[in-house]
Amino acid sequence: MLSVLALLAPAAGIAYLGAVSYRDEKGAVNAQQERQRQAALAIAGRIDRAIGETLDAVDRTIDSGGDRVDTPLGRYWFWIDGDGQLKRPRIVQAMEPPVSLSRGCAFGLEDCVRELTTRQGRLAKLHAAQAAEGAGAWTDARRQYTQLASADDTGPAALLGLARVLGKLGDAKGADAQLAELDRRFPDRNFEGVPVKLATAVLRAQSPDALLALAEQIVGGAFDVDAIVKVGVLTRLRERLAADLPPALAARRAALDERMAELRNLARMAAGLADDVPELVHTATASWRGHAAAHQAGRILIYRRRPDNTVTGIAVDAHMLEAAAGHENSDDVALHVRPLVLPTGAKGPPDQRELERIPLGEALSDLSLALVNPQSDPDPLDDIIRGRSRRHVVFTSALALALGLGLLAMIRGAARARELAQLKSDFVSTVSHELKTPLTSIRMFAEMLEQGVAQGDQAKMHRYHGVIVQESQRLGLLIANLLDYAQIEKGTRRYTPTREQAGELARHAVTTFEALRGEGPRNPIEVEVSSDASVMVDRDVVVQALLNLVSNAAKYGGEHPIEVRVAADDLMASISVTDHGPGIPAHEQARIFREFYRAPEAYRSGVEGTGLGLALVKRHIEALGGTVEVASTIGQGATFTIRLPREAA
Ligand code: ADP
Repeated sequence: MLSVLALLAPAAGIAYLGAVSYRDEKGAVNAQQERQRQAALAIAGRIDRAIGETLDAVDRTIDSGGDRVDTPLGRYWFWIDGDGQLKRPRIVQAMEPPVSLSRGCAFGLEDCVRELTTRQGRLAKLHAAQAAEGAGAWTDARRQYTQLASADDTGPAALLGLARVLGKLGDAKGADAQLAELDRRFPDRNFEGVPVKLATAVLRAQSPDALLALAEQIVGGAFDVDAIVKVGVLTRLRERLAADLPPALAARRAALDERMAELRNLARMAAGLADDVPELVHTATASWRGHAAAHQAGRILIYRRRPDNTVTGIAVDAHMLEAAAGHENSDDVALHVRPLVLPTGAKGPPDQRELERIPLGEALSDLSLALVNPQSDPDPLDDIIRGRSRRHVVFTSALALALGLGLLAMIRGAARARELAQLKSDFVSTVSHELKTPLTSIRMFAEMLEQGVAQGDQAKMHRYHGVIVQESQRLGLLIANLLDYAQIEKGTRRYTPTREQAGELARHAVTTFEALRGEGPRNPIEVEVSSDASVMVDRDVVVQALLNLVSNAAKYGGEHPIEVRVAADDLMASISVTDHGPGIPAHEQARIFREFYRAPEAYRSGVEGTGLGLALVKRHIEALGGTVEVASTIGQGATFTIRLPREAA
């Protein structure tokens, strides 16, 4: 029963633990996955909010007539008017409007043709003048430009050329005068998108300081021109700046370079946006939506229609969206975790582990948000599982150990049971033999007496009677032992304690034993009472125990004398039986008290016995509250000591 429990309990424990830890582990993994999902949702929410706020800021900027949207996503904002034209950023304007012919044609077709021919002639002259200027023929160029300066169509270009040529000829004053005239006569004209005002300012600026000041004005929006024009003019101004500038100017130049890079982006975007405009106008609704730009997959256009039917929007890239989400503590579901905005369906970078991926919502259906951490970092799920499984392993090993011990106990139990079965079967044959031997002697001597074998020989007859008595007594002790054992086994053995003197009990046992002993060699038995004590015991039981010990001493101790000693201390009385026989090896000393156990030596020596005597001694004496123990040195004999509690104690 116990060993079955010892096996079942740990086995059930392992099964239970397995189930619990599986559930536990699954729960922990689910919890981590849910945390990752919540973090991703929160980041997506923040991106959504940033977009909404930026679009509102764009609206406010438009309403206030401003130029800048001060949010991280508002850097490249755009605005398309009701006619589907980009209002901002503006695309480079049409070339200089063709000179109107209507005035020249007022008097009929002939005038028209004449006007057209002279205009073509003037244009040819303008080209010749520009060629002369290009070749460095300053005076020729000056003459030709002067002739063209008065005309309405070639005037602006001629005046500008004249100013340049005069500058080359060292006539700064003259050049200035030409520029002033240009400003006065043609304030509304432009050269390929560069307004006259700006063109003259560029020519006037000479010193690095003046060049930088003009560039800063352009950047600051002093001239109402497109980004592309701005970039073109700025590039030209920038080229005219000397390489080595004093530190203060160099710093201004660096700042200028930065703004130019920005403008270049804006210009590029304006150019890129042109292709998307029809699509944006077509699909814009009051609530915002977004998609990748037609020719640049990396650029995402997010836009919506305003109540005035114009369309506003922003151009962003994945990185800007990630940055706009910012960082919050709830994002940290693992070490070094960060958000990545990716086209839906696209794989993330190979060195990053995707912890979670969610779509960025209906408005940005082309994009998804991935929460990633580096592959080189531990997987947070692994971490959780590892932590749990470590605990699991500890528990399971402990239980497995218990299971192993249980198994061992069971094996030992089985071995013990087998041993016991063997002992019992040995016992049956031994007992039969033990019963038979005295019975045979008794019958033999009784028959001899009956047949008158000892007729007339008193001594012989006395000896025959003696054998019969002695053998019956031996039989009696044996049967008493057997009955005792049966009673003890059944648990029905009762003890009747009476007050006894330990010394008297010892003497009585020895006298009884002497009476039982037959003829033949007998070893002397000496009783020595050093201090006597009274004990409350079942007299018969103690005497029978002592008889067993003395009988063993006589059986196994050879012809050497036997000593029986009685002593007492404050608590206990002790009776010991010492023989000087072969002794009992240490490893046998515990076994000899087991039922039916007989040492191999006992079998070898041919001494008869049942293996029951010492077992009964031990059970009886312990039942009386005492102890029995053995001390022995091989070759020198053995001492069995019974200790009984003193009556006073
Ligand atoms: P048995 O009927 O065999 O004597 P016991 O229970 O009295 O059974 O003793 C058990 C075994 O202990 C004996 O078989 C013997 O091997 C050993 N034994 C007992 N007493 C002694 C002794 N005085 N000297 C040596 N061996 C002894």
